[in-house]
Amino acid sequence: MLDAPNVKDERFKTYGRLYVIEFAELRSVGKHRKAFWICQCACGSPLKAVCGEALRSGNTVSCGCVSRIRAAENILVNRENSPAVIKGRSAANKENQNGKTS
Ligand SMILES: [Zn+2]
Repeated sequence: MLDAPNVKDERFKTYGRLYVIEFAELRSVGKHRKAFWICQCACGSPLKAVCGEALRSGNTVSCGCVSRIRAAENILVNRENSPAVIKGRSAANKENQNGKTS
């Protein structure tokens, strides 16, 4: 049921990995009322309410799994390029034992 005026209908659209299932609710965000939509992520995670504006702007393209994957990839890339890894694994192991992840 879409009874809110001035809300762009996003149902059955796909944004990145998110598929919009239905209208969730209007939420007050600052001074504005914004439409949130129930979305299903392609990774199969539980349904999530996402702001329509975030969907349209491309800010939100997944339940969060995409940014988690990107973050993991960045860590891998940084590690491969880090001086510690180039010098040898013993240096990297020392860093890990000290709890530093620079
Ligand atoms: Zn996901």
